[in-house]
Amino acid sequence: MTDHTTAWAQRFSERMSRVRANEIRELLKLLDQPDILSFAGGIPDPGLFPSERIQASYQAVLSDPELSQQALQYSVSEGYLPLREWLAERMGAHGVACGPENIMLTAGSQQALDLLGKLFLTRGDTVVVARPTYLGALQAFTAYEPHYLDLPDGALDGDCDAEALMAGRAERPLGYFVPDYANPTGESMTTAQRRALLELADATDMTLIEDAAYRELRFAGEALPSLLALDIARSGSIEQARTLYCGTFSKTISPALRLGWVCGPKAVIEKLVLLKQGSDLHVSTINQMVGWRTVTEDYEQHLSRLRNAYGAKAQATLDALDRHMPQGVSWSKPQGGMFVWLRLPEGIDGKDLLARAIAEERVAFVPGAPFFAESAADNTIRLSYSLPTAAEIDDGMARLARLIARQI
Ligand code: PMP
Repeated sequence: MTDHTTAWAQRFSERMSRVRANEIRELLKLLDQPDILSFAGGIPDPGLFPSERIQASYQAVLSDPELSQQALQYSVSEGYLPLREWLAERMGAHGVACGPENIMLTAGSQQALDLLGKLFLTRGDTVVVARPTYLGALQAFTAYEPHYLDLPDGALDGDCDAEALMAGRAERPLGYFVPDYANPTGESMTTAQRRALLELADATDMTLIEDAAYRELRFAGEALPSLLALDIARSGSIEQARTLYCGTFSKTISPALRLGWVCGPKAVIEKLVLLKQGSDLHVSTINQMVGWRTVTEDYEQHLSRLRNAYGAKAQATLDALDRHMPQGVSWSKPQGGMFVWLRLPEGIDGKDLLARAIAEERVAFVPGAPFFAESAADNTIRLSYSLPTAAEIDDGMARLARLIARQI
C-alpha cells in the first residue's frame, strides 16, 4: 500500500514547507472544557454583538424584492459602493482624505494581509515587524517565503541606524505594524514613534502595512493619528503615501460577517482588486449590505457601549493583577483593545506555565513565544479579557498568580 502521508508531502508546493499549524488555534481546541477559566481566546464578547440590528438589516434587505436580488447576486470585487463611500468618509474624518476608489473590501482584515503579502512579497524579501507581533500576520506572510526582521526594542525611540538595520537584508522591505492596542501586547505606539516609523520607512524605502484591527476599541487616552493619516499629512495625498491601512468590522460588529477593508493609493487598490478576483471574486454581497445598514444607524452609540464594556474588563484585569501578582511580574496597561501582555521573571517559560496552569489551576492563556518572528522572549504570556466576567477575571488572576508564585 502507498504511504499517502509521504506521497502528499512530496507533491505540495515548496512554500508549504514553511506553512505550519497555528499553535494557538491548535491549543484553543483543547480548551473547550467548562471548568477552565480561559484568558486565551482573543475573540469579541458575543454579548456585545449588535444582533438585533443585524437581524433587522438582513430582514430589510431580503424583504425588498429589488434589494434582495442584488444582495444574493455576484457583485464587484472592489466592494459594495455605499459601504466604500461610508468608509471613505469615515477615514476622511480621521485625517485620511480619500475616495471610494482608495478602498477595497476584504473578507476580514486577515484576507487583506494575505493579499498584501501576495502583492508585495517575492521569496527572500524582508518583512519588518515588531517584537512581538500578530501571529496571524506572520502566518499570512510566511506563505510568500519572506525573511523576517524584528525591529529592535527602542528602535523608534532614538536614532535608528537604517543602514545597519538593513545590512545584509533584501532591500525595499515590507513593514507590518499594529499601532493601536496591538495583539498581543495591548500597547500602542506613541505619535513620536509613529513618526519615527515613517522616517525609518523613508530611509529604507519600506512599504508599510498598518493593521488597525483594534483602533475603534479605545476606552482610555487620546485617539492618536493613524500611520496613514501621518503619512498623508507629510506626503500631501493618499496617492503619495507608502502606507496601506487595514480595517475590520470583526471587533466592532461581528467577525462572522467577514468584513474588512484596505485603504491606500489607487495604484495599489487596483492591483489588490485583481488578486481579490482571483481569490474569491468579492466579499459576500449580502453581508456588505447588512454591514452598511448596521454602521449607518446608531453606530457611534454602539461603539461607545463596546468601549465601556471592554474598558471595564480591562480595568478589572489590571486591578486583579495589582492585587494578586507577585513581585517580578510586569504587564502592559492597555487603553483599548482586548489584551494584556505579561512579562514573567526570567526562566519561567510561558509554554511550560500553560501546561501547569491547565493541570493545576484550571486557568488558560496564550504563551508569548509564538508571537515573535525572529527571537522569542519565552517568559511572556498574553491574557485576553474580552470573554470572562469581572468576577472570573479576579478569580483567574488569583489562580494564575498563585501558580507563578510557586514557580518563583
Ligand atoms: N489583525 C489583528 C491584529 C487581529 O488580532 C486579527 C484577529 N485576531 C486580525 C487582524 C484578523 O481579523 P479579521 O480577519 O476578523 O478582520
